[in-house]
Amino acid sequence: MTDRPSDPPEAPASLADAIGCLSSYDPGALPVDDACRVIARLLRPVAAIEQVAIRASLGRILAHDILSPISVPAHDNSAMDGFAVRHADLVADTPVRLRLIGTALAGKPLPQVPGPGEAVRVMTGAVMPTGTDTVVIQEVAREQDGFVTVPPGQEAGQNRRLKGEDLTAGQPALEAGRLIRPADLGLLASLGIAEVPVRRRLRVAIFSTGDELRSIGEPLGPGQVYDSNRYTLHGMLARLGVDLIDMGVVRDDPLALEAAIRAAAGSADAIISSGGVSVGEADFTREIMARLGDVAFWTIAMRPGRPLAFGRIGDAVYFGLPGNPVAVMITFYFFARAALLRLMGASESPSVFTRARSREFLRKKPGRTEYQRAIITRSPDGEPEVRTTGSQGSGVLRSMSRANCIVVLHHDQASVPEGGWVDCLLFDGLV
Ligand code: AMP
Ligand code: MG
Repeated sequence: MTDRPSDPPEAPASLADAIGCLSSYDPGALPVDDACRVIARLLRPVAAIEQVAIRASLGRILAHDILSPISVPAHDNSAMDGFAVRHADLVADTPVRLRLIGTALAGKPLPQVPGPGEAVRVMTGAVMPTGTDTVVIQEVAREQDGFVTVPPGQEAGQNRRLKGEDLTAGQPALEAGRLIRPADLGLLASLGIAEVPVRRRLRVAIFSTGDELRSIGEPLGPGQVYDSNRYTLHGMLARLGVDLIDMGVVRDDPLALEAAIRAAAGSADAIISSGGVSVGEADFTREIMARLGDVAFWTIAMRPGRPLAFGRIGDAVYFGLPGNPVAVMITFYFFARAALLRLMGASESPSVFTRARSREFLRKKPGRTEYQRAIITRSPDGEPEVRTTGSQGSGVLRSMSRANCIVVLHHDQASVPEGGWVDCLLFDGLV
């Protein structure tokens, strides 16, 4: 691993500086977009870079631009099986008979140069013989006794792929900050590139807080619940390809919490906890955070979610997510995920909404962002339509499990009539 010399370790903004970018700031009623802006300002991507084989680069973040060492394709070549001809030999309204001088296969160019009145049989991918510019597909041509008859109506340059049509040598094939996807592996391979520089993996420590939490395998006493948040967090973080440090359940006890935070800050780039940040519980959390780091406690104008702690502890970024299982997922997807991608060095904007028609009336008050768990399907007329998954209580994890998307009702948006268009964030994309 090397530190990228061109990326000087910029002094990170303090939380107060980051908050200073807002024109107004009320930690007790912070709009989602404002919270996202503050979070983004506090983050610096991990600097270390490692060189990995292209297969291992899937899901990683490219650290430098990759310039194409070659043109792709490297030569003009045939896009179809057929006959390579000089278009100048053809006649607009009558068939033309051309003499065949040989065959060019993919990877086996024909050394002879066809002259006027001559053609070459070509297979898909074959280098276009010198002087030819057009391919007549075999289905319309007639071959007989060493000649081919070409019907009229062939367009100049048809069925020919041009050199450099995909990429020209020296052009960026992939840009730094890209999250590498399957197509990129193929693209890199098509350029003959065996290894690429990627940012090192992010280390993320997670823990749950709450005296009522039990681990799987333990009996549940009255009022106790199984700790599910570490499992949803595990799933969401695994999708991001981070190295996970699972610190288990931490009791509602200042000493235990302090020890967990110190250990996490010493080993991780980011710390994500759940529970213990709501108004009733946050007091001792606040006191510890104030001592150990630079952390703000917010009430976000959103539903579900609301309480969120964010800041820095030592060199680690800290997210204190609410404890409710649905709120954990929503705050992860809409705050932590983009932040982690940024820490990973990703440049792309992570979420693109899909528009769908709501199958039902959605009650909504302007002045907060609401997230409804929903199922998106295709209506009989072919348009995407969406319906919510029933009870939207922030503890109802099944509403999340049944959903395939989240309907986002934006801050200023009011109620949506049945049939109105809404923004949806799909859980699974084809990546
Ligand atoms: P808190 O934010 O700590 O007040 O927790 C809010 C609610 O979420 C309470 O009902 C908790 O029992 C529940 N909760 C907190 N953490 C977890 C967890 N890790 N797994 C399941 N439920 C939790
Ligand atoms: Mg709690």
